[in-house]
Amino acid sequence: MALIVQKYGGTSVGTIDRIKAVAEKVKRARERGDSVVVVVSAMSGETDRLIGLATQIESRPTPRELDVLLSTGEQVTIALLSMALNAIGCPARSYTGGQVQVRTDSAHNKARIRAIDGARVRADLDAGSVVVVAGFQGTDGQGNITTLGRGGSDTSAVAMAAALKADECQIYTDVDGVYTTDPRIEPKARKLDRITFEEMLEMASLGSKVLQIRAVEFAGKYRVPLRVLSSFEEGAGTLITFEEDDVEEAKIAGIAFAKDEAKLTILGVPDEPGVAYKILGPISDANIEVDMIIQNVAAAEKTTDFTFTVHRNDFDKAMGVLRHTAESLSAREVSGDKRIVKISLVGVGMRSHAGIASRMFEALAKEGINIRMISTSEIKISVVVDEKYLELGVRTLHDAFQLDADGSLDVVA
Ligand code: ADP
Ligand code: ASP
Ligand code: MG
Repeated sequence: MALIVQKYGGTSVGTIDRIKAVAEKVKRARERGDSVVVVVSAMSGETDRLIGLATQIESRPTPRELDVLLSTGEQVTIALLSMALNAIGCPARSYTGGQVQVRTDSAHNKARIRAIDGARVRADLDAGSVVVVAGFQGTDGQGNITTLGRGGSDTSAVAMAAALKADECQIYTDVDGVYTTDPRIEPKARKLDRITFEEMLEMASLGSKVLQIRAVEFAGKYRVPLRVLSSFEEGAGTLITFEEDDVEEAKIAGIAFAKDEAKLTILGVPDEPGVAYKILGPISDANIEVDMIIQNVAAAEKTTDFTFTVHRNDFDKAMGVLRHTAESLSAREVSGDKRIVKISLVGVGMRSHAGIASRMFEALAKEGINIRMISTSEIKISVVVDEKYLELGVRTLHDAFQLDADGSLDVVA
């Protein structure tokens, strides 16, 4: 008998009929002889609705109280799903994160799971019940309710699977697996049967919201077998694998994009030791995370330009800090741009293949897409382009690397 953790996202539990359909799916797994823990999200749109209520009172809601509010979304779903299971003769018990000891740090709205005590869950499973746990939430050492950041139910599920040493963690969602890119942007995107853990980690960190990045990190740390599948159709979905050799030959796994970055530039700063520190030190002191950075080569007049990106939510704060720095450095000008996107090509095969970057840049150039920034790592190349080029950029690269073609593609020209 296997122990399976199944997670159902917002769309999958978005209506009473869908909750009933999930109950049937869970019941079928029980009938196959498996023990099942179900982790659920709030019904679709509910978390946004609750945030909307909070912001009518405070433009930046008090983080602790926001967590008390947001956690109610998932609490509704656990109760309804347990009722639906009991109604079809499949005994079930629901629990909030706190009740099953999902212990987190105290970073409200973006808490990290520290420990889970699986004893209570195991006792119910041994007694033959399905256990339904609220995703996205836990409690800190003082018993305060915390939430894990948007998309956090994925992480709850993987952490629960790790704590219980489950045989598999299944993430049920509104697509039937991980695709070469978001199928909403590129209809020709192809479902992958397998993707390496490393590639999935990059895809998630570069903006593919099909899995929350912390969920992938957890799966890597505790070696949790992880699969993404459809709530609505049968199928094997996509397996996140730890064996690189196992993966189809393709050199590029997929394309990720992020619409939530913004770019800041400081022009005409003195080209001298310590200038990067003088610019980025105050940014980091203000608790703002920086993603990409470029510093230009100094021109004849011994000054240079410096550009970096931050999360769009931090843009105004970062501009304030940078203006202040500009004054103290006697910089010529500060400018910023929120209308940018980052598009990234991801694949473990990249490490051993030259020519991928030039093929990427050539394809974008042919479409007249200007690249504003570039960054690379062993298994990814990211470019920043104007927001208006998001769809064209993604589709162009998808075509250039023939990601819609089945099987492998040798990308060496
Ligand atoms: P859930 O509510 O089930 O957690 P999400 O909306 O968080 O679902 O994630 C699923 C969505 O992720 C899909 O509807 C799809 O638009 C998006 N997505 C982004 N990139 C990818 C990708 N590479 N493969 C599949 N889906 C992706
Ligand atoms: N309900 C939360 C959100 O909308 C968590 C999740 O769905 O994973 O972000
Ligand atoms: Mg999600």
